[in-house]
Amino acid sequence: MAAKYVYFFGNGDADGDESMRAELGGKGANLAQMAKAPLSLPVPPGFTITTDVCQEFYKLNRNYPEGLSAQVDEYLAKLESAMGKKLGDENDPLLVSVRSGAAISMPGMMDTILNLGLNDKAVVGLAKKTNNERFAWDAYRRFIQMYGDVAMGVDHDKFEAIIDEVKAKAGVKEDTELTTENLKEIVEKYKAMYKAEKGEDFPQDAKKQMWGAIGAVFGSWMNPRAIKYRKLNNIKEGALKGTAVSVMAMVFGNKGETSGTGVCFSRDPSTGENVFMGEYLMNAQGEDVVAGIRTPQKLSQLEQTNKAIYDQLCEIRDRLEKHYHDMQDMEFTVEEGKLFMLQCRNGKRTGAAAVKMAVDMVAEGLITKEQALLRVEPEQLNQLLLPQLDKDAVKKAIEIASGLNASPGAGCGQIVFTADEAEAWAKDGKKVLLVRKETSPDDIAGMAVAQGILTSTGGRTSHAAVVARGMGTPCVCGCADVAFKDENTIVVKGKEYKKGDFLTIDGATGRVFEGQVAVKPAAISGDLETFLGWADEVRNASVRTTASGKTVKGFNVLANGDTPQNAKDAFRFGAMGIGLCRTEHMFFDEPKLTAFQKMIVSDTTEQRKENLAKILPYQQKDFYEIIKTMEGRPVTIRLLDPPLNEFIQAESDGAAAALATKLGMDKAALVAKVAALDEHNPMLGHRGCRLAITYPEIYEMQVEAIARATAQLDKEGVKHDVRIMIPNVVTYKEVEQIRAQAEAVIAAVNKDCGTSLAFQIGSMVEFPRTALSADKVASVADFFSFGSNDLTQTTFGFSRDDYGKFINSYLDQRVLEDDPFATLDADGPGALMEIAEAKGRGVKADLHLGICGEHGGDPASIALCYKIGLNYVSCSPFRVPLARLAGAQAVIKASK
Ligand code: PEP
Ligand code: MG
Repeated sequence: MAAKYVYFFGNGDADGDESMRAELGGKGANLAQMAKAPLSLPVPPGFTITTDVCQEFYKLNRNYPEGLSAQVDEYLAKLESAMGKKLGDENDPLLVSVRSGAAISMPGMMDTILNLGLNDKAVVGLAKKTNNERFAWDAYRRFIQMYGDVAMGVDHDKFEAIIDEVKAKAGVKEDTELTTENLKEIVEKYKAMYKAEKGEDFPQDAKKQMWGAIGAVFGSWMNPRAIKYRKLNNIKEGALKGTAVSVMAMVFGNKGETSGTGVCFSRDPSTGENVFMGEYLMNAQGEDVVAGIRTPQKLSQLEQTNKAIYDQLCEIRDRLEKHYHDMQDMEFTVEEGKLFMLQCRNGKRTGAAAVKMAVDMVAEGLITKEQALLRVEPEQLNQLLLPQLDKDAVKKAIEIASGLNASPGAGCGQIVFTADEAEAWAKDGKKVLLVRKETSPDDIAGMAVAQGILTSTGGRTSHAAVVARGMGTPCVCGCADVAFKDENTIVVKGKEYKKGDFLTIDGATGRVFEGQVAVKPAAISGDLETFLGWADEVRNASVRTTASGKTVKGFNVLANGDTPQNAKDAFRFGAMGIGLCRTEHMFFDEPKLTAFQKMIVSDTTEQRKENLAKILPYQQKDFYEIIKTMEGRPVTIRLLDPPLNEFIQAESDGAAAALATKLGMDKAALVAKVAALDEHNPMLGHRGCRLAITYPEIYEMQVEAIARATAQLDKEGVKHDVRIMIPNVVTYKEVEQIRAQAEAVIAAVNKDCGTSLAFQIGSMVEFPRTALSADKVASVADFFSFGSNDLTQTTFGFSRDDYGKFINSYLDQRVLEDDPFATLDADGPGALMEIAEAKGRGVKADLHLGICGEHGGDPASIALCYKIGLNYVSCSPFRVPLARLAGAQAVIKASK
């Protein structure tokens, strides 16, 4: 026997229910649930063809599985008997709508056809039966238009042109003013146009129409719009079986002034307020509300004009919310004074609304705190913290290019191409958008004043991206369509943009727009604190066993922060410490940069030490402030990491001359230094603790600055918990040697200051070798922090700085499901982290483990870190609220 492909609903009962979303789609499952007890709502009867059929349809090269046709016949007969009408009947035709609906709602992405079953004869029958000729012809012309457009691919504009022509001839403006005769004329013209376009008559056989519509809906699963929607919403291929198709008896909102149709929300989807809201139109069909042909009225007006229906809707709103324990988005139609529910689903909402509803519903006893925490998408929290593009403005905006969505938020400004220009223009009160091929530490001051940063190369972990996220500045990077023509001009897909022209970027999506797109300021809901407090409770109370059999308690969120301002942001957003302070970022601004550059160009150890001594007080001051800001929470300071050539760049002769003058040296000598520092692959070159193996004095200065800052705070009675971290470790011997040198410096400071400070000294794990020899490293390190940016780079062999060139091809062709620099890859770096966890804790059972690469702020990666058994994740301050929530969700989901 063939599988059951078709499920009936209506007449107070249904074959399926809400638990069958995967098979019936969200719409079909909810229609079934609404139709049957205990809700027993007025739902027009119909049947749903399952998503399994959609899956088969594509497997069978767009053919239906055997047995479907007989089942559809059987359920159509059931529907006809429920309605007491027959499809295609010439005297009293049954009309149906054919609707799409996948398990996850994809609003407006797939097709729907209304008024199906009309033909040249049935329209006359319908007119007689309803005693409403105008209504019948209006329904017929709508059907030809929708079926022609959606199922048969006839250009929508061709239909609109005919309506416009007839309206102009009749001298009317609104569709509602068209007479029956006008509508008949439109139908004739539609049919003639259809025949000219398709080479055949408009189908008159109602069953043929129905199968055409079913095929169109299944076909729409793979339309470019739906594919793009799934991609944008991270719905993985194979995660859904496809769309279901619901065939449902039509009820008519366009039968005159006692009929109407509308959409409503059980709470306000943009603010989350517990108010019933929506829109409706009398004498209209659903498409009129959506298409915006007429301006709908507010639901509150219905209370005045039709109190009985309004009260009934209010009661349904309450019952649906109580049943689904969530905000409902509902569609209804009133046919000659009788209310029908056509759809309900959990409504989409803004981040602010999601938080407010979750908190309110806990207070109302509708959901538990854990359910509330699962209600909000972590990424939605960004909306509460950063300026956003105005949605309506985006609809009208001209998108010119797209790159990697490197740092969220909207940035709009006049374009400038150097950091100096950015600074100068900003000083003049202009809002600037910094456009660069890529950024370097020299650009930092310009980046800091920019509304946003756009780069043509570089990936999510490029300098621009990391710094921008740290600053909370919107950034789109790796936007290959941006070409630099000359110092005043960029070219994007053939069009020139001059310095001073406005561009707008959306760092959340990577889109770049021409001109000024309106930006909305951040709106922080008062409920956010309560909500995130629950998230903290859940994480703090968590206990799990790792694959290596160790018990780990709690799951913390720390922040990456390099400056006192970052530390303040981190504290404000609830970080429980600093998991990564990249000390190199402290040399970005003057006068520190010059002192640091002088240190780099030193010829002898003596000179280097002399210059380092000048830097020490600056470092000490920054450390002092960061440690103080964190009020005794851990502050993990990483010793210098990047290759030195990052700080000495002379792209042109002029730049070399300027830098030489600044550093008080001969230009030729500077050029020689730059050449000596040059590396083919700096990411794998002389960086990280390798610098300290060759120049121990650099780390010694940094450790001294850390120790002196801490000693100062200690004496002031300020709480502190400072940890020192060594980057780019490949062998335990590096840790052993650097540790010994650091401890000697700390001892000297203790002696000098009369303190007895001790610091944990830990190792970053950023390379496969480090993970594979983690037992040895753990024997000399007090903690591990996974540098997942470098660990991804070296596990994949993808350059962090260059992968932007090819990653989109990988993702588009689904060679990779995720960008490994955005989402931690379980099979590569994730597997190495598991090995490091087992080996490390094999030596020290309570070895503290964290992550400080960019993945620390990504929800899926956070869940993997929880599973592996990390004690904390550390991410940029602006992602801390998101990580607090994502961590709690990982705990809740793992416990299920
Ligand atoms: C890392 O590699 O993940 C890391 C945190 O270090 P950086 O990004 O500074 O190389
Ligand atoms: Mg690193």
